[in-house]
Amino acid sequence: MSRTTLKSDPSDVRARNIRAVFQLLFPVDQMSRAELGRRVGLSRMAISEVVGEMVDNHLLRETGMDSRTGRGKRSVMLAVDPDGWRIVSVDLTQTFVIRGALVDLCGRIVGRVEIPCENAGDVQLEVVGELCEKLLSMTDRPVLGMGMAVPGVVDPDGVVIRSVNLGWTNVPLKKRAETRFHIPTVVCNDTNMALLGECYFGDCSADSMFIKIGQGVGAAVCVNGEIVNGRGYAAGEIGHVVVDPKGPRCVCGKRGCLEALLSVPHLRERIDSEPEDRTSILAEAGQRLGRALAMTVSLLDLSDVSVFGPPEIVGEAFIGSMREELEARISADYRDMPSLHRCQQGDDLVLRGQAVAVIRQLIDSIHNRSLVEGVVRSTSEGEQLHHDPGEPSN
Ligand SMILES: [Zn+2]
Repeated sequence: MSRTTLKSDPSDVRARNIRAVFQLLFPVDQMSRAELGRRVGLSRMAISEVVGEMVDNHLLRETGMDSRTGRGKRSVMLAVDPDGWRIVSVDLTQTFVIRGALVDLCGRIVGRVEIPCENAGDVQLEVVGELCEKLLSMTDRPVLGMGMAVPGVVDPDGVVIRSVNLGWTNVPLKKRAETRFHIPTVVCNDTNMALLGECYFGDCSADSMFIKIGQGVGAAVCVNGEIVNGRGYAAGEIGHVVVDPKGPRCVCGKRGCLEALLSVPHLRERIDSEPEDRTSILAEAGQRLGRALAMTVSLLDLSDVSVFGPPEIVGEAFIGSMREELEARISADYRDMPSLHRCQQGDDLVLRGQAVAVIRQLIDSIHNRSLVEGVVRSTSEGEQLHHDPGEPSN
């Protein structure tokens, strides 16, 4: 990855300080230079230098004087500058549409593009390129990077090893995007990005599990604030783990996979055929998931479990019985029960989480890339293509 090319110690230190300061303020916190210095462990002079560079590069802005009344001199507060840069974020997880957004440095969506695609299971790279082109044409700000969230297994070089949903095998998505747009690009697994979004904008902590129930069933796990990828980058691919050997036949050929029992199409079909049993069908589904996850939750001593899915499926019946099952299986006097909740971030979760991944990977690379790149872009493309970035267009 590009940041590993940082050569010498001083630049490593510099990068680490920039990340630490940004992390303290992202997305919407405010602190004085003195407080940032204390928290990062830097002298007055050193923190002023770091903050000065970040303000010059439009990563931070001064927001005025501290409004808290207290002793001593009031100090100038700093916050993330939402207007300096834009991130292009692409969500390839929906079945018949590709969604993209322009995101600001605080993780807020400021513009959108959607392209419908008729052939689910055969998504053309050209369409993804077209979407990025449109998003780039909507802003006159420099672009920090592009991020693409893919339903499937992705390696750290941004190669999509396998995505059944998109019909892709070994697609070097990062390389293709960077060759075409000359903008650093980050490609990630979609469920991992949903977890990242939930950690920053929702209810997850540094030790969390995120479960996504949709066409399939996927998971993501974060331990000590780091997403677990696994040896073959397939951590969280739990959909085809057998939980009931006598269960229904799965598309993969086995019986009783988690996905065969808990996917939204399967549950909807059951509810449609026995509408009067809706509550018990969903309670049974929640119980199965609780049973399947109890070992992982206690093995890793997680503090949050967030479940994402359509509200008519992942509702009170589902969550309530999942909670009961987890409690029955893992409660002990030496362990606090994890907080289990329905994820309430809605459809933008993956787009915003993917933008966070871009920010986290590229925030310290700006001085290498230079603002010139942004300025060139903004004068050559921005002026004649003046869209209101706040205006959704689809
Ligand atoms: Zn299966």
